[in-house]
Amino acid sequence: DKVYINGQIVNPEDAKVSVFDRGFIFGDGLYEVMVQINGKFFYEKKHLERLQSGLDKINIDFDAALLPNEIARLLKTAQLTDKDCMLYIQITRGVAPRQHSYPSEIKPTVMMYAVPKVLPKINMVNAHVITRKDFRWSRCDIKMTSLLGNVMLNEEAMQHNCYETILHRNGVFTEASHCNVFFVKNGVVYTHKADEYILNGITRIVVIELCNSLGIEIRETAISLSEINTIDEAFLTGTSTQIAAIQQIDDYKIYTGNEKGPVTQRLQEAFLKLK
Ligand code: PLP
Repeated sequence: DKVYINGQIVNPEDAKVSVFDRGFIFGDGLYEVMVQINGKFFYEKKHLERLQSGLDKINIDFDAALLPNEIARLLKTAQLTDKDCMLYIQITRGVAPRQHSYPSEIKPTVMMYAVPKVLPKINMVNAHVITRKDFRWSRCDIKMTSLLGNVMLNEEAMQHNCYETILHRNGVFTEASHCNVFFVKNGVVYTHKADEYILNGITRIVVIELCNSLGIEIRETAISLSEINTIDEAFLTGTSTQIAAIQQIDDYKIYTGNEKGPVTQRLQEAFLKLK
């Protein structure tokens, strides 16, 4: 196990950050998660672009283009070059005496680690999910480390022996606690548009591209709470979840046993071929 911290690659117990780091004090930082499959990070460019766009939104002065070299160094030291693994990247604003506004002279704290992880070929999870009001803030497009809302909402799913909590705001479904959510109705795929109420998942973007290339109609239109009992299929997307069929939403059973819908299955198979 190795951790990258501000240019150094050290053992986890030697990876130290100040208690005055704004990531610790305010959750003032961003993160990314990507997976290496068959020796290559899946959609690395899109992940790093999203990270850069988040950094720009919150004025953290860091160039994500510096990361690929550093990632290669980390993987080499961790003996994970070319191995299937998951990489976590976190960039916080840095260390400064506590004050809310952005300090002028501050150097970001960059931390990364990689762990071996082999993703299943096709996600066999048949997820049961609960629905809850999305009580998070209104800048869910920023992939910030302050995930307390997501953590609380995911914990509720665990308490109900469910895989995820799908969230609604203003009467429509937005996303889930750590995934995006899609619905299928009369052969058309629906998902919430990429505005400030959702994180624009890389897997979400890939699934939309797949729908377009497979000739499956896709609408970035949200499904409303009252429509939920009329949908034919639903699935979750995310970097480690990949594409997971949803079997049951609260008391509404979509399938029984190991069945899954034809659109979900087609997308899962097409997704597999991208890797
Ligand atoms: N939505 C939220 C709230 C998330 O935390 C995540 C992933 O962490 C996603 C969606 C899925 O994003 P991606 O496909 O880039 O992993």
